[in-house]
Amino acid sequence: MKTDYFIVGAGFAGSVLAERIASQLNKKVLIAEKRNHIAGNAYDEYDEHGILVHRYGPHIFHTNSKEVFEYLSQFTEWIPYEHKVLAKLGNELYPIPINRITINKLYSLNLKTDEEVKEFYERVREKRFPITNSEDIIVNQVGYDLFNKFFRYYTKKQWNLEPKGLSASVCGRIPVRTNDDSRYFTDKYQFMPKDGYTKMFERMLNHKNIEVILNTDYKNILDSVKFDKMIYTGPIDYFFDFKFGKLPYRSIRFEFENISKKQFQETAQINYVDDSVKYTRVIEHKLLSQQNSDSTTISFEYPQKEGEQFYPIPTEENRSQYLLYKKEAEKLSDVFFCGRLAEYQYYNMDQVVANTLKLVGNLRNE
Ligand code: FAD
Ligand code: UDP
Repeated sequence: MKTDYFIVGAGFAGSVLAERIASQLNKKVLIAEKRNHIAGNAYDEYDEHGILVHRYGPHIFHTNSKEVFEYLSQFTEWIPYEHKVLAKLGNELYPIPINRITINKLYSLNLKTDEEVKEFYERVREKRFPITNSEDIIVNQVGYDLFNKFFRYYTKKQWNLEPKGLSASVCGRIPVRTNDDSRYFTDKYQFMPKDGYTKMFERMLNHKNIEVILNTDYKNILDSVKFDKMIYTGPIDYFFDFKFGKLPYRSIRFEFENISKKQFQETAQINYVDDSVKYTRVIEHKLLSQQNSDSTTISFEYPQKEGEQFYPIPTEENRSQYLLYKKEAEKLSDVFFCGRLAEYQYYNMDQVVANTLKLVGNLRNE
């Protein structure tokens, strides 16, 4: 087999790059994907009950980048969707991110203005300086009680680490609000692809210069492919045969269940923030795509060590180990490492798209 670009992985990084290289650089692309489908972790499909489900956890598209939004809009129409999450603590549900409603309900208060909530946080927060980990960043804003209730056990379940052991950027993904805005994200563009993510990827990859081979670990065909350049979007440690040891990635076991009623829970996502159950969150899929159906499909997320690699684990130690791999990667002038697994970064979809569009700009100048 002969190609100009050999791309490993058909997720966001691999597919966006393939589309740009094929359509803008007019080069031939071969993608090897080890799973039996395209779209990486954004993969969705209709289950046997006719409900569109996200097989690898809920994927909500949100971005402030006009460029990213306009780029993807070539391959999909959108449905406006603003994600709302409730945290289940004991028998009660509270808005998360923590906001005025959360505080009033939890402490039986009647704070009416942002100012009053700000004063409340001032009273309960514990100043931490410098902010070095995921405990510091939350306790510094809202104090130990709120941290303990909403972050400590969820984080322990998700990462099998105390928040103290994780980079501040992990819990720092979740803002703290003084108003009653109960949306999970506040980005300018918040949408779901109208026909789902997989359809969007199909359109992206439908180009005469692109060939996709599924069910294929790239190492199994590497010797038989002749190429000028390679783009690698898989786990970076695997590329280098684990020469500096295995990088830890976190996985999840998804348990799907169909229930014979119209709606199961109040909102598309409920986070179980105490340790009374082993799962972290329950997703009701039809609420993501606003689908109408008599039954509903939900999924429980059980984080685990083994399995498909979903999350890099942001700790100082893992970062140092990754940097050893990165140094090796930089020595290879014809291989580009791109995406969440290859760069060992806790990226959202839009960040991956933004980075890959930038990389295409560089490839153009090669
Ligand atoms: P991936 O999607 O992981 O693609 C890499 C591909 O490479 C995979 O398909 C893999 O099978 C393939 N591959 C790996 N090794 C090999 C090999 N040896 N040979 C061949 N192929 C290989 N982002 C958001 O913006 N919003 C969200 O709401 C959101 N929710 C998420 C929920 C969960 C549970 C998870 C895990 C992620 C979520 N994300 C979300 C993040 C999003 O999934 C990623 O940002 C995005 O998918 C990264 O794209 P990627 O191409 O870098 O990686
Ligand atoms: N988090 C938490 N409680 C919550 C929501 C989030 O402790 O109710 C922490 C947890 O460590 C989680 C991180 O914040 O892994 C990031 O949350 P996000 O919802 O962004 O996770 P993702 O959707 O990427 O799994």
